[in-house]
Amino acid sequence: MTISGKTAVVTGSNSGIGLGVARELARAGARVVLNSFTDRDEDHAIAAEMAKEFGVEVRYIQADMSKAEECRGLIEKAGACDILVNNAGIQHVAPIDQFPTDKWDAIIAINLSSAFHTTAAALPIMRAAGWGRVVNIASAHGLTASPYKSAYVAAKHGIVGMTKAVALETAEEPITCNAVCPGYVLTPLVEAQIPDTMEKYNMGRDEVIKKVMLERQPSREFATVEQLGGTVNFLCSDAAAQITGTTISVDGGWTAL
Ligand code: NAD
Repeated sequence: MTISGKTAVVTGSNSGIGLGVARELARAGARVVLNSFTDRDEDHAIAAEMAKEFGVEVRYIQADMSKAEECRGLIEKAGACDILVNNAGIQHVAPIDQFPTDKWDAIIAINLSSAFHTTAAALPIMRAAGWGRVVNIASAHGLTASPYKSAYVAAKHGIVGMTKAVALETAEEPITCNAVCPGYVLTPLVEAQIPDTMEKYNMGRDEVIKKVMLERQPSREFATVEQLGGTVNFLCSDAAAQITGTTISVDGGWTAL
């Protein structure tokens, strides 16, 4: 089995890691379904440009991953789903006693529950096709914690747990389910945390990147979206057919500390 000709649905893929993963899947010949909650011309333009660049079918389907019925609707509209990458995610940073309830609810819905709904909708399609790959983009925060990120850490630990349960439920089938755990990757999600962190620590941008963010990442380098895409492609390869229910860290040594 090769990735070429397979249909891959990547949630939250109009920017950052999701877009990088979608691009590597398209490069390997997959038909790709891009997704986010917006419906802008630029979202459709990303799909058109990617189709042209890689010579594969790329569609953009709007669906809000905070809503159960839209998560399931995304898989229905995709029509096929051999590879499901649950990537959509948001972040909010605050001490738990000041953590807004609506932010907690949104993080749990988008970063965790969406993967439950899409996986539930995708597994019957994978079973009918006789092959499937579920890859959950978790985080180093699925294995360790940081202060002020209670909702994010809870959601990411949750998705690592769900990954194991789904792997056991599909263990005797040609379907695998794994989680990729990135350390820091310089995407819009991380960019958005820099101004607040600069203010909090009274530091400049470079100092925040080196001393606060990459302080946890022994390589002192950001992981790249291309490296994440390569990891997902590996999990979709035949070489990874017996890898299921596990986590692969792409974190420059963060979780080795
Ligand atoms: P990003 O902000 O660039 O991308 C997040 C994506 O999710 C975007 O495409 C956004 O449109 C989409 N999204 C947000 N809310 C959505 C919703 N309601 N419905 C559908 N799509 C929605 O961030 P990123 O850094 O690329 O993050 C992608 C994933 O990687 C997240 O799950 C994040 O937790 C995880 N991650 C990121 C890092 C990092 O350092 N950047 C590290 C570890 C894990």
